Amino acid sequence: MTFADLALTQPLLDALAEEGYTNPTPIQAQSIPLLLQGRDLLGMAQTGTGKTAAFALPLLHRLAQTPRPAPKNGARVLVLAPTRELVSQIADGFESFGRHIKPRVTTIFGGVAQMHQVNALKDGVDIIVAAPGRLLDLVEQGLCDLSQLEALVLDEADQMLDMGFAKPIERIVATLPQERHTVLLSATMPKSIAALAESLLRDPAKVEI
Ligand code: AMP
Repeated sequence: MTFADLALTQPLLDALAEEGYTNPTPIQAQSIPLLLQGRDLLGMAQTGTGKTAAFALPLLHRLAQTPRPAPKNGARVLVLAPTRELVSQIADGFESFGRHIKPRVTTIFGGVAQMHQVNALKDGVDIIVAAPGRLLDLVEQGLCDLSQLEALVLDEADQMLDMGFAKPIERIVATLPQERHTVLLSATMPKSIAALAESLLRDPAKVEI
């Protein structure tokens, strides 16, 4: 199978070719068609399996197919991840695969001044990639409004729960529209993740790598 078989928009196929990616990895081959159909997804996948592209490509495809202005102080897509390093890596993935679509991508994490992050959000962006703690701070200060969000991804959800982010995630999710597209990825599937999935996902497709 090639990426062209997955019916991704040409600007994405061009970016993949430029990156030297020819064939989708197993998680990409399974997840991308489901996500293009708009299905919620529960994915059990380790790092190194190509899981970033598995959600980034179909989300970029949908942004490209349905252009609209970014919501003020908010975003169309939110990706939550446990650490600043992973947040940066995911944002780099969206920038790289999206190089011909040119989405506005911004990162939000703690340990640095919030001013730059707040300024980046003012006009709205297409994609926020964030660590839950700082994002909740901004939401509670009224500096980030996620009420127009279209899609939510939780990456390395088990790691986020281990780091004590269950409450911040719950409080962020409470501000999101009920009607949205949701993806949850986790390396392990303990009961706490099953419960989180149950509360966040609607009739999810399940993918295991
Ligand atoms: P991830 O699991 O998202 O951290 O990705 C692991 C690594 O695999 C990253 O360095 C990606 O750039 C690379 N990668 C992802 N998808 C593919 C693919 N289809 N073909 C070749 N490399 C890939």
